[in-house]
Amino acid sequence: MGKAKNGAQKVGLMQRLEKDAAICAEGYLFECERRGYLQAGAFVPEVVLDHPEVVTELHREFVHAGSDIVEAFTYYGHREKLRIIGKEHLLEPLNRNALEIAKKVADDSGTLLAGNLSNTNLYVPGDEQSRKDVRRIFDEQIAWAMEYGVDLFVAETFSYGEEALISLEAMRASGVPTVVTLSIHQEPKTRDGWSLGEAMKRFEAAGADVVGVNCARGPNTMLPLLKEIRDAVSCQVAALPVPYRTTPEQPTMQSLKDPASNIRPFPTALDPYVCTRYELGDFTRAAHDMGVRYLGVCCGAGPHHIRAVAEALGRKPEASKYSPDMSKHAFMGTDPTLKPSNREFAERL
Ligand SMILES: [Zn+2]
Repeated sequence: MGKAKNGAQKVGLMQRLEKDAAICAEGYLFECERRGYLQAGAFVPEVVLDHPEVVTELHREFVHAGSDIVEAFTYYGHREKLRIIGKEHLLEPLNRNALEIAKKVADDSGTLLAGNLSNTNLYVPGDEQSRKDVRRIFDEQIAWAMEYGVDLFVAETFSYGEEALISLEAMRASGVPTVVTLSIHQEPKTRDGWSLGEAMKRFEAAGADVVGVNCARGPNTMLPLLKEIRDAVSCQVAALPVPYRTTPEQPTMQSLKDPASNIRPFPTALDPYVCTRYELGDFTRAAHDMGVRYLGVCCGAGPHHIRAVAEALGRKPEASKYSPDMSKHAFMGTDPTLKPSNREFAERL
């Protein structure tokens, strides 16, 4: 367990969850892409080497907005992803830089440092060699993360339950809490055909501390999945949707269709579908009421979404100092010193 800046022992993940909740900001890939520091497609976080200051600042913004956890930006920074862009020689420096950057922010802010694993895209059901290749990827990323004293591991966006189980087996040796989340695509089951409840039970039995879902689905289509998950396990449950207005017919950000054009909105034209901060606040309250304690937002998340998650949990992160107060707005405000002629004009704006 790491130490906070003042030298005090940090409150660990499991204690935070038992007491109340834990917030984890995700979505670094999309936000760095939007800012012009990461290429959509391969989605490899070379930004941790090319522009570490951008990643540092984004970590700080998410903490300022209420994130309890700083996730080292090693998502899609694994061997297979570096192979596809022809830069395997950068594998270790990329992982180390990401961990170094995140550790500094976590130590400065007293938040928790998370190591991060993701789907490898190498797993093939029934293929023994693919299991070995996947395991090697996890083992090497875990070994680097352990050198930086991570407080927990997050293994995320798995489509295959089996691949998530391989990550759990690899993480278990670390001795730190483990969070495992699936991405649920259009069909509400894993790619190996397990029901959600069955998958979560298997993860819990394999030693996961927190199980759940992240990415792919927006609040509207993730919320209906949560009861089955909560009912299936006795461990803590995680839910981190993408902030997009998905629907029962188009339940994932990848399946959204723009009726006005033939362009698939995913991943770079999703802007018209972005949820408001209030929608993320509503999701957070509803999920928390169902007993889901590990909360956050994935791809597409901005700090305003994370602040809304924090405020929905009754918190006041530093960013709440700047939460909206429309009472002083020149036209829409209610302050009695405002010019009545402007307030009367409000409806004509
Ligand atoms: Zn995501």
